[in-house]
Amino acid sequence: MIGCKDWSEIYGQDRAIAFLKHSLERGEIPHALLFTGPKGVGKYTSALLLGAALICPSKKPDGCPACAKVARGVHPDLHIVEAEGNVIRREQVTEVERELNRKPHEAPCKVVIIDDANVMNAETANSFLKTLEEPPPESYMILVSPSKENLLPTVVSRCREVAFAALGKRDIEDFLINMEGLDEAEAERLARKSAGIFGRALTWARNPDIEKNWDRGVEIAASLRRLSLLQALDEADEARQRLGELAGAEMEEKPDLEAYLKAVDKRSRERLKKGFEEKEKRETARLKRQAAVDLFDGMSSFYRDIMLLNMTEEAGELSSGVPLINLEWREELEREALHIGSAESMRRLQVLQKARKALEANVDLGLLLDSLLLELKNA
Ligand SMILES: [Zn+2]
Repeated sequence: MIGCKDWSEIYGQDRAIAFLKHSLERGEIPHALLFTGPKGVGKYTSALLLGAALICPSKKPDGCPACAKVARGVHPDLHIVEAEGNVIRREQVTEVERELNRKPHEAPCKVVIIDDANVMNAETANSFLKTLEEPPPESYMILVSPSKENLLPTVVSRCREVAFAALGKRDIEDFLINMEGLDEAEAERLARKSAGIFGRALTWARNPDIEKNWDRGVEIAASLRRLSLLQALDEADEARQRLGELAGAEMEEKPDLEAYLKAVDKRSRERLKKGFEEKEKRETARLKRQAAVDLFDGMSSFYRDIMLLNMTEEAGELSSGVPLINLEWREELEREALHIGSAESMRRLQVLQKARKALEANVDLGLLLDSLLLELKNA
């Protein structure tokens, strides 16, 4: 969520934010921080805000030019390390360490954010230990990870952990109503569909086009039984094209990079330019993957609902009490539940889970969609 301007956009994380603000006020921000917590609750956005606060002349994210550069990820003293594919390579870390050992360009300090620090392999993490333990002067490192359990204990012990909490459905609804101005029905629907992933609910609230990928997934799952194999492959092709177009269309407006690059020295210019091009490439790939994740999760949610309906029926209970995700699709769900038993819905959920893993490993999307739909149909 690049572009977030101040702490009020981080919702339901009072403890974490209070700690950060308090430490900022006292000038006691630990040099190595570890932000942990579930996906989409604001860890990465908070890391950017903290980066802005450390770099900003007025010591708070106030939207000044320095803060704006941080928010766009183009400040020369902010270094963002993100996974390439699904791994953080050792060279990425080495490059950042080299930068850290130089003087800051514009700001009073340098800030490194390592997103998804959990995908650093042991070799990369080990090579980073010394820097974490004895950070170069005026440098801050913020590691972001879903939990500390998937990091090396030696990394964890060198960082101050800031835990971000999971949000409940009601919290998300409240935020969407009070801060985003959605009506109650709309807020309830997004909170229900996003299954507690706040970032996803917010993205959908602001970009209804992205939410459509999920709906498309539900549609495909609902109609799959009645499609021939050829029709299923057509569906896959159509979905792939849509994802391709979407990734192009959703690229955020580009910062006025040229003008900015002229204003910095040659060494930073080369590095920033390279960094920015890589960032753009990663961003496009990320959006495409995210759209595919939404599509797959939409499909999974349909089979998850069917499984619940079947299990309720087997237990001899009333289906009206089932907490369905896709309430709007009740009729189709009840119809398909007659054809797809709980064992088969379970199998389909597993097929989708496997496809979701393959997606993270950067396989070709077209091939993945083809084989996914064929495997789902192959009852
Ligand atoms: Zn500022």
